[in-house]
Amino acid sequence: MNTPAELLSSARKIVIKLGSNTISNKEGKVDKEIMKHIVGQIMHLIDEGKRVVVVSSGAAVSGVGAINKWARKNDINYKQALCAIGQVELMNAYKEFFGEYGLHVGQILLTGEDFNEPHRELNIRNALFTLVDEGVVPIINENDSVSIDEFSIGDNDTLSALVANLWAADLLILMSDIDGVYDKDPHTYDDARLIELVEDVDGLRRSIDTKGKSDFGTGGIVTKINAAEIVNRYGTSMLLVNSRKEDILGKLERGEEKATVFSGSPARK
Ligand code: GLU
Repeated sequence: MNTPAELLSSARKIVIKLGSNTISNKEGKVDKEIMKHIVGQIMHLIDEGKRVVVVSSGAAVSGVGAINKWARKNDINYKQALCAIGQVELMNAYKEFFGEYGLHVGQILLTGEDFNEPHRELNIRNALFTLVDEGVVPIINENDSVSIDEFSIGDNDTLSALVANLWAADLLILMSDIDGVYDKDPHTYDDARLIELVEDVDGLRRSIDTKGKSDFGTGGIVTKINAAEIVNRYGTSMLLVNSRKEDILGKLERGEEKATVFSGSPARK
Protein backbone atom coordinates (compact mmCIF):
# COMPACT_ATOMS: atom_id res chain seq x y z
CA MET A 1 0.00 0.00 0.00
CA ASN A 2 2.56 2.50 -1.06
CA THR A 3 1.27 4.52 -3.99
CA PRO A 4 -0.46 7.87 -3.52
CA ALA A 5 -3.61 6.37 -5.08
CA GLU A 6 -3.68 3.47 -2.61
CA LEU A 7 -3.03 5.73 0.36
CA LEU A 8 -5.70 8.22 -0.65
CA SER A 9 -8.25 5.52 -1.23
CA SER A 10 -7.67 3.69 2.05
CA ALA A 11 -7.21 6.68 4.40
CA ARG A 12 -10.22 7.66 6.46
CA LYS A 13 -8.68 10.40 8.61
CA ILE A 14 -6.50 12.87 6.76
CA VAL A 15 -4.56 15.92 7.95
CA ILE A 16 -3.83 18.32 5.09
CA LYS A 17 -1.22 21.02 5.54
CA LEU A 18 -1.35 24.07 3.32
CA GLY A 19 1.77 26.23 3.33
CA SER A 20 1.86 29.99 2.84
CA ASN A 21 3.24 29.39 -0.64
CA THR A 22 0.48 26.88 -1.34
CA ILE A 23 -2.23 29.50 -0.98
CA SER A 24 -0.26 32.40 -2.46
CA ASN A 25 0.41 33.41 -6.03
CA LYS A 26 3.83 33.93 -7.58
CA GLU A 27 3.94 37.51 -6.23
CA GLY A 28 3.64 36.10 -2.70
CA LYS A 29 0.08 37.36 -2.12
CA VAL A 30 -2.68 35.13 -0.76
CA ASP A 31 -4.74 34.15 -3.77
CA LYS A 32 -8.38 33.42 -3.02
CA GLU A 33 -8.91 31.56 -6.31
CA ILE A 34 -6.13 29.13 -5.34
CA MET A 35 -7.65 28.70 -1.86
CA LYS A 36 -11.06 28.08 -3.36
CA HIS A 37 -9.67 25.44 -5.70
CA ILE A 38 -7.92 23.64 -2.82
CA VAL A 39 -11.08 23.78 -0.69
CA GLY A 40 -12.91 22.18 -3.64
CA GLN A 41 -10.39 19.32 -3.63
CA ILE A 42 -10.75 18.88 0.14
CA MET A 43 -14.54 18.81 -0.29
CA HIS A 44 -14.13 16.00 -2.80
CA LEU A 45 -12.34 13.95 -0.12
CA ILE A 46 -15.03 14.79 2.44
CA ASP A 47 -17.73 13.76 -0.05
CA GLU A 48 -15.96 10.42 -0.38
CA GLY A 49 -16.56 9.92 3.35
CA LYS A 50 -13.15 10.98 4.61
CA ARG A 51 -12.60 13.13 7.67
CA VAL A 52 -10.28 16.04 7.18
CA VAL A 53 -8.36 18.37 9.48
CA VAL A 54 -6.64 21.34 7.81
CA VAL A 55 -3.42 22.90 9.07
CA SER A 56 -3.00 26.21 7.29
CA SER A 57 -0.18 28.72 7.29
CA GLY A 58 -0.57 32.12 5.74
CA ALA A 59 -1.36 34.37 8.71
CA ALA A 60 1.73 36.53 8.22
CA VAL A 61 1.35 36.83 4.46
CA SER A 62 -2.39 37.58 4.79
CA GLY A 63 -1.58 40.22 7.39
CA VAL A 64 0.73 42.03 5.01
CA GLY A 65 -1.93 41.83 2.30
CA ALA A 66 -4.61 43.21 4.61
CA ILE A 67 -2.77 46.11 6.17
CA ASN A 68 -0.37 46.82 3.34
CA LYS A 69 2.56 47.75 5.55
CA TRP A 70 5.13 46.29 7.94
CA ALA A 71 6.20 43.71 5.34
CA ARG A 72 9.86 44.48 6.01
CA LYS A 73 9.65 45.00 9.76
CA ASN A 74 11.71 42.40 11.53
CA ASP A 75 10.72 43.28 15.09
CA ILE A 76 8.93 40.37 16.69
CA ASN A 77 6.03 42.51 17.91
CA TYR A 78 5.23 43.58 14.34
CA LYS A 79 5.35 39.97 13.17
CA GLN A 80 2.97 39.01 15.97
CA ALA A 81 0.68 41.89 15.06
CA LEU A 82 0.70 40.90 11.38
CA CYS A 83 -0.25 37.33 12.25
CA ALA A 84 -3.06 38.56 14.53
CA ILE A 85 -4.48 40.57 11.63
CA GLY A 86 -3.83 37.97 8.95
CA GLN A 87 -5.32 35.05 10.87
CA VAL A 88 -8.71 36.76 10.68
CA GLU A 89 -8.35 37.22 6.92
CA LEU A 90 -7.36 33.61 6.54
CA MET A 91 -10.32 32.30 8.53
CA ASN A 92 -12.71 34.61 6.69
CA ALA A 93 -11.63 33.06 3.41
CA TYR A 94 -11.97 29.48 4.70
CA LYS A 95 -15.36 30.31 6.23
CA GLU A 96 -16.56 31.66 2.90
CA PHE A 97 -15.27 28.79 0.76
CA PHE A 98 -16.33 25.89 3.01
CA GLY A 99 -19.58 27.80 3.63
CA GLU A 100 -20.37 27.50 -0.07
CA TYR A 101 -20.64 23.74 0.54
CA GLY A 102 -22.71 24.24 3.69
CA LEU A 103 -19.87 23.40 6.08
CA HIS A 104 -18.71 25.31 9.13
CA VAL A 105 -15.06 25.81 10.01
CA GLY A 106 -13.53 25.96 13.50
CA GLN A 107 -10.26 27.65 14.36
CA ILE A 108 -7.68 26.08 16.69
CA LEU A 109 -4.44 27.96 17.39
CA LEU A 110 -1.69 25.99 19.08
CA THR A 111 1.76 26.46 20.58
CA GLY A 112 4.59 24.04 21.23
CA GLU A 113 3.72 23.97 24.91
CA ASP A 114 0.29 22.57 24.16
CA PHE A 115 1.89 19.32 23.03
CA ASN A 116 4.08 19.01 26.12
CA GLU A 117 1.33 18.97 28.66
CA PRO A 118 -0.99 15.93 28.79
CA HIS A 119 -3.97 17.89 30.06
CA ARG A 120 -3.77 20.41 27.21
CA GLU A 121 -3.21 17.63 24.70
CA LEU A 122 -6.29 15.85 25.90
CA ASN A 123 -8.35 19.00 25.53
CA ILE A 124 -7.11 19.64 22.01
CA ARG A 125 -7.90 16.04 21.10
CA ASN A 126 -11.42 16.33 22.51
CA ALA A 127 -12.08 19.56 20.64
CA LEU A 128 -10.74 18.09 17.40
CA PHE A 129 -12.78 14.89 17.63
CA THR A 130 -15.93 16.83 18.48
CA LEU A 131 -15.53 19.29 15.60
CA VAL A 132 -14.89 16.54 13.06
CA ASP A 133 -17.65 14.27 14.43
CA GLU A 134 -20.09 17.14 14.07
CA GLY A 135 -19.07 17.77 10.46
CA VAL A 136 -17.09 20.94 11.11
CA VAL A 137 -13.72 21.41 9.39
CA PRO A 138 -11.00 22.32 11.93
CA ILE A 139 -8.48 24.83 10.60
CA ILE A 140 -5.32 24.82 12.70
CA ASN A 141 -2.38 27.21 12.79
CA GLU A 142 0.35 28.04 15.22
CA ASN A 143 -0.72 30.76 17.65
CA ASP A 144 1.89 33.09 16.21
CA SER A 145 1.04 36.06 18.42
CA VAL A 146 2.07 34.27 21.61
CA SER A 147 4.18 31.45 20.27
CA ILE A 148 7.74 32.68 20.38
CA ASP A 149 11.01 31.36 21.74
CA GLU A 150 10.58 28.28 23.90
CA PHE A 151 6.82 28.07 23.25
CA SER A 152 7.21 27.94 19.52
CA ILE A 153 6.82 24.96 17.19
CA GLY A 154 8.28 27.17 14.48
CA ASP A 155 6.90 25.68 11.30
CA ASN A 156 3.63 24.16 10.21
CA ASP A 157 5.19 21.02 8.72
CA THR A 158 6.07 19.98 12.25
CA LEU A 159 2.76 21.27 13.63
CA SER A 160 0.78 19.22 11.10
CA ALA A 161 2.76 16.09 11.99
CA LEU A 162 2.08 16.61 15.71
CA VAL A 163 -1.61 17.14 14.94
CA ALA A 164 -1.71 13.97 12.80
CA ASN A 165 -0.34 11.93 15.70
CA LEU A 166 -2.61 13.58 18.25
CA TRP A 167 -5.73 12.93 16.16
CA ALA A 168 -4.49 9.45 15.13
CA ALA A 169 -4.79 10.31 11.44
CA ASP A 170 -4.11 7.61 8.82
CA LEU A 171 -2.47 10.02 6.41
CA LEU A 172 -0.70 13.39 6.45
CA ILE A 173 -0.64 15.33 3.19
CA LEU A 174 1.83 18.21 2.89
CA MET A 175 0.88 20.47 0.02
CA SER A 176 3.95 22.15 -1.39
CA ASP A 177 5.17 23.68 -4.62
CA ILE A 178 7.25 20.77 -5.85
CA ASP A 179 6.24 17.26 -6.91
CA GLY A 180 7.97 15.66 -3.95
CA VAL A 181 11.53 14.99 -2.85
CA TYR A 182 14.23 14.81 -5.50
CA ASP A 183 17.60 13.15 -5.25
CA LYS A 184 19.11 16.57 -6.07
CA ASP A 185 17.88 20.12 -6.59
CA PRO A 186 15.52 19.95 -9.61
CA HIS A 187 16.00 23.67 -10.28
CA THR A 188 19.72 23.18 -10.78
CA TYR A 189 19.99 19.66 -12.21
CA ASP A 190 18.03 18.52 -15.25
CA ASP A 191 18.57 14.89 -14.36
CA ALA A 192 17.14 15.28 -10.82
CA ARG A 193 14.95 12.26 -10.10
CA LEU A 194 11.73 12.31 -8.10
CA ILE A 195 11.90 9.84 -5.24
CA GLU A 196 8.45 8.22 -5.22
CA LEU A 197 8.81 6.08 -2.12
CA VAL A 198 10.75 6.72 1.07
CA GLU A 199 10.84 3.90 3.60
CA ASP A 200 13.92 5.02 5.48
CA VAL A 201 13.74 8.71 6.38
CA ASP A 202 17.14 8.74 8.00
CA GLY A 203 18.71 7.11 4.97
CA LEU A 204 17.08 9.74 2.76
CA ARG A 205 18.43 12.51 4.94
CA ARG A 206 21.93 11.17 4.50
CA SER A 207 21.61 10.60 0.76
CA ILE A 208 20.19 13.88 -0.56
CA ASP A 209 21.42 17.43 -0.50
CA THR A 210 18.95 19.31 1.67
CA LYS A 211 20.88 22.54 1.60
CA GLY A 212 20.22 23.52 -2.02
CA LYS A 213 18.62 26.90 -2.51
CA SER A 214 15.58 25.39 -4.19
CA ASP A 215 12.20 26.76 -3.29
CA PHE A 216 11.08 23.74 -1.35
CA GLY A 217 8.44 25.67 0.59
CA THR A 218 8.25 27.83 3.68
CA GLY A 219 9.76 25.38 6.09
CA GLY A 220 12.12 23.94 3.48
CA ILE A 221 12.68 20.29 2.70
CA VAL A 222 14.31 19.63 6.09
CA THR A 223 11.11 20.32 8.07
CA LYS A 224 9.14 18.17 5.61
CA ILE A 225 11.46 15.23 6.14
CA ASN A 226 11.27 15.80 9.91
CA ALA A 227 7.46 15.81 9.69
CA ALA A 228 7.58 12.47 7.87
CA GLU A 229 9.75 11.06 10.62
CA ILE A 230 7.33 12.20 13.32
CA VAL A 231 4.29 10.52 11.71
CA ASN A 232 6.08 7.46 10.29
CA ARG A 233 7.16 6.63 13.83
CA TYR A 234 3.45 6.10 14.61
CA GLY A 235 2.89 4.04 11.48
CA THR A 236 1.24 6.91 9.61
CA SER A 237 2.22 7.64 6.03
CA MET A 238 2.89 11.09 4.61
CA LEU A 239 2.42 12.38 1.09
CA LEU A 240 4.36 15.36 -0.25
CA VAL A 241 2.39 16.75 -3.20
CA ASN A 242 2.53 19.69 -5.58
CA SER A 243 -0.49 21.89 -5.02
CA ARG A 244 0.44 24.13 -7.96
CA LYS A 245 -0.91 21.39 -10.22
CA GLU A 246 -4.61 21.64 -10.87
CA ASP A 247 -6.77 19.04 -9.10
CA ILE A 248 -3.61 17.37 -7.80
CA LEU A 249 -5.41 15.23 -5.22
CA GLY A 250 -7.90 13.95 -7.80
CA LYS A 251 -5.08 13.21 -10.24
CA LEU A 252 -3.13 11.34 -7.56
CA GLU A 253 -6.24 9.34 -6.68
CA ARG A 254 -6.56 8.35 -10.33
CA GLY A 255 -2.86 7.56 -10.62
CA GLU A 256 -2.33 10.35 -13.15
CA GLU A 257 0.32 12.24 -11.18
CA LYS A 258 3.32 11.46 -9.03
CA ALA A 259 4.29 12.52 -5.52
CA THR A 260 6.59 11.31 -2.76
CA VAL A 261 5.19 8.77 -0.32
CA PHE A 262 6.89 8.53 3.07
CA SER A 263 5.68 5.16 4.15
CA GLY A 264 4.73 4.53 7.77
CA SER A 265 5.19 0.84 8.31
CA PRO A 266 2.13 -0.66 10.06
CA ALA A 267 4.48 -3.12 11.73
CA ARG A 268 5.73 -0.27 13.91
CA LYS A 269 2.26 0.86 14.96
N1 GLU B 1 2.22 30.07 11.23
C1 GLU B 1 2.84 30.82 10.16
C2 GLU B 1 1.78 31.65 9.42
O1 GLU B 1 0.61 31.34 9.48
C3 GLU B 1 3.51 29.95 9.14
C4 GLU B 1 4.47 28.92 9.60
C5 GLU B 1 4.94 28.07 8.42
O2 GLU B 1 4.74 28.48 7.28
O3 GLU B 1 5.48 26.99 8.59
O4 GLU B 1 2.13 32.58 8.73
